[in-house]
Amino acid sequence: MKKVAVYAGSFDPITLGHIDIVKRARKVFDELHVVVADNPSKKYTFSKQERLKFAEESLGEIGGITVVAHEGLLIDYAKSVQAIALVRGLRALSDFDYEFHMATMNQDLCPTIETFFVTAASKYFYINSTTIKELAKNRADVSAYVPGYVAETMKEFYR
Ligand code: ADP
Repeated sequence: MKKVAVYAGSFDPITLGHIDIVKRARKVFDELHVVVADNPSKKYTFSKQERLKFAEESLGEIGGITVVAHEGLLIDYAKSVQAIALVRGLRALSDFDYEFHMATMNQDLCPTIETFFVTAASKYFYINSTTIKELAKNRADVSAYVPGYVAETMKEFYR
């Protein structure tokens, strides 16, 4: 049976850190659903369509990846695709509290789906979407942190 996992986030925008996590997760799971969160109470910089396009353009070549948007509980999406795991990326100790809380909550909601934590390569540790947007807003070159297509779109967006 195929091992399916789900990796969710805002991906506002997707970064090389996210992509590194996706590639590592694909070594373990046969299929990975990359879920672009669409949370009505959260304010995103890029629209759902833009965030989906960023992910599709960046992950298309990897194989075994499905990119979707989802509104609602992630665990419900995971159940609907018979996933056995939720993948989360860990950067620093500061991520731990929140991630531990979410993993425990999801375990309560569905004890058969495990949360797997993956760390990105050290060169990606400090990459996060918020900082990259701040750089782009101030006309810095962000191509070392995000895929080319995303860097170009951000340049246009903040022009
Ligand atoms: P959110 O913060 O809304 O959960 P993100 O898109 O920022 O969504 O993150 C999605 C997942 O990717 C989270 O598990 C996060 O810890 C992880 N992640 C983000 N950036 C990195 C990075 N540079 N290295 C490792 N994991 C990362």
